[in-house]
Amino acid sequence: MTEILRIAVQKSGRLSDDSLKLIKECGIRFDNGAGKLRAPAANFPAEILFLRDDDIPGYVEDGVAHLGIVGENVAVETARDVDTVYRLGFSKCRLSIGIPRGEKYGSIKDLHGKSIATSYPRILGKYLQDNEVEAQIHEIGGSVEIAPSIGLAEAVCDIVSSGSTLLSNGLQEVETIFRSEAVMIASRNLSDTQQSHLDQLLFRIKSVQAAKNNKYILLNCPTDSVEEVSKYLPGMRSPTVMPLATEGWCSVHSVINENDFWENIEKIRQAGAEGILVIPIEKMIL
Ligand code: ATP
Ligand code: MG
Repeated sequence: MTEILRIAVQKSGRLSDDSLKLIKECGIRFDNGAGKLRAPAANFPAEILFLRDDDIPGYVEDGVAHLGIVGENVAVETARDVDTVYRLGFSKCRLSIGIPRGEKYGSIKDLHGKSIATSYPRILGKYLQDNEVEAQIHEIGGSVEIAPSIGLAEAVCDIVSSGSTLLSNGLQEVETIFRSEAVMIASRNLSDTQQSHLDQLLFRIKSVQAAKNNKYILLNCPTDSVEEVSKYLPGMRSPTVMPLATEGWCSVHSVINENDFWENIEKIRQAGAEGILVIPIEKMIL
């Protein structure tokens, strides 16, 4: 029992769906019936714990949970002694300072002597210190954006993704102090067996992410264009080239990265490719 990995995820909130989706995409099955706080995995030596996100780093530090998925903002703010083992790429957001709309702002120095409401006193404190700004930090648990309008503070420092919450509370975003995404944290004293389960899990996560970032591509092109087309399709080793029944034509199969997809498709078309099919990849083993 002690050799299984206990993985802590947020019970309900912005991280929950993507955390569970990732675990499922790694082929780990578990029954997360409504209201359940722990769920054993059916086909992996793991158990999922459903917790409040703020509590996860502490549990991982204590070894009550061995792994946890939290926002990096929470991992840094709680400052627990844990390893950040992987950046997961979802729940991207930023921690920003907002001041009442219409107020002039030149630089962070303008906050000297002001009061700032936040749920992130540690991250904010460090930022102010690094910038040699002395301001009063008011720690509040939530609904931070309301603070200036009720006279509790002159500025706020809170999580922003689109900025619409700030706007609807009459605030303007003036400074980003931290960029965050979901991270996997791990306890520092895993047994050898647990470490090897973690390595297996990380291998699966990387395969899932690589698949998401790449597409399988098939196309037809004149045989004398194969070399030109292949330049834009390095694939995992090199593209597969097969002759078509039609004389002078080939079928080329490869993998193409999402980032340079449109640019390369254009060049491939110019090189004479046609009948281009692009297909999602479920897993990609590197
Ligand atoms: P809990 O009840 O578990 O304490 P919470 O209210 O503290 O939940 P959520 O609002 O669900 O937390 O946010 C969880 C994490 O998701 C945040 O710590 C942050 O990393 C990320 N996050 C927060 N807001 C956004 C957003 N608007 N867009 C993307 N990610 C966000
Ligand atoms: Mg929380």
